[in-house]
Amino acid sequence: MRAELQNSRDNAAKFVNPKVLQEGWPIYREFEVEYSDDDVLIYAPRVVQEIPAVSCDRSVPTEIPKDENRVRVYAPLQETPDLFLKFAGLRRHKAKTRDEAAEIMLNWAKNYGVLGLNTGDDRRESLTGFVSSARRATRCLKLYEAATVETGDLPDPDIETLEKLRVPGKTAKQKREAALEEVEVIVGVHLEDECYPRLYRRVNRQIGTTLRFEQGYGFRSLLGAMYLQMMWLMEGNHPPRCKGPGCNRIIRIGKYAPGARELAEESRHKGGRPRRYKTRKDKEYCSDNCRVKAHYHEVVKPRKQQRAAKS
Ligand SMILES: [Zn+2]
Repeated sequence: MRAELQNSRDNAAKFVNPKVLQEGWPIYREFEVEYSDDDVLIYAPRVVQEIPAVSCDRSVPTEIPKDENRVRVYAPLQETPDLFLKFAGLRRHKAKTRDEAAEIMLNWAKNYGVLGLNTGDDRRESLTGFVSSARRATRCLKLYEAATVETGDLPDPDIETLEKLRVPGKTAKQKREAALEEVEVIVGVHLEDECYPRLYRRVNRQIGTTLRFEQGYGFRSLLGAMYLQMMWLMEGNHPPRCKGPGCNRIIRIGKYAPGARELAEESRHKGGRPRRYKTRKDKEYCSDNCRVKAHYHEVVKPRKQQRAAKS
């Protein structure tokens, strides 16, 4: 039985074209920072080792020198399936000064790469562009979370949040619809500008035969890749939410990425169990704050009440 299960998994893995998730984006180690009156610019310079003295032997092909500043090229859709949530959550650590904001941008760039706002330029970023993109992503996610909140039998969205976000409409239903419409526009615009369909050929490598063609997605910028994740979040049903009292934040997208979903389906189809994603305990809360609050509500408070009842 075990061997059978393993076998069906191996088979599934063989057929999934990993390229669907493998579009790359570069990460650079060092950035030059330039301050002007109204903006902060960062730039990852090309760093090449000194070229040795020119050789007279023309038959030796000259290699393009490697950029030492480029740490690696990673696949954001595959390696960081929840990156959109992380980006939209940046606004929670509100920067008080311009220097703090620039530090957040620089940190992001060193960990995940620049957003690529300047027609896909993967070396440059401006603070104004970074902040306005983060602000829009935050609004987009907040609107979506509030409008689709699960309230048991009650269909009402999170009105308080929608009002704070100044969503138009008189009734709860109108507000929810207005919020979802805005989310559709924000995500739609980014998909149109930053993403494009890609054609993939699925090959069974063992027998060297093309099985079929498939449609996947490509992105022109890291921001585009993140909005693909938001699209997958919206396509899916009931994304996991924070279990903190009164908190409705969505905490995971990952499982909706294509390829991964396909792998799970194929494995199920072949009798195997769907591939599980790590469900770590600490992933049930959006933040330490919510974890602490939940602990208070579930453990500390009942204990206090018990003690009070006894005395
Ligand atoms: Zn929370």
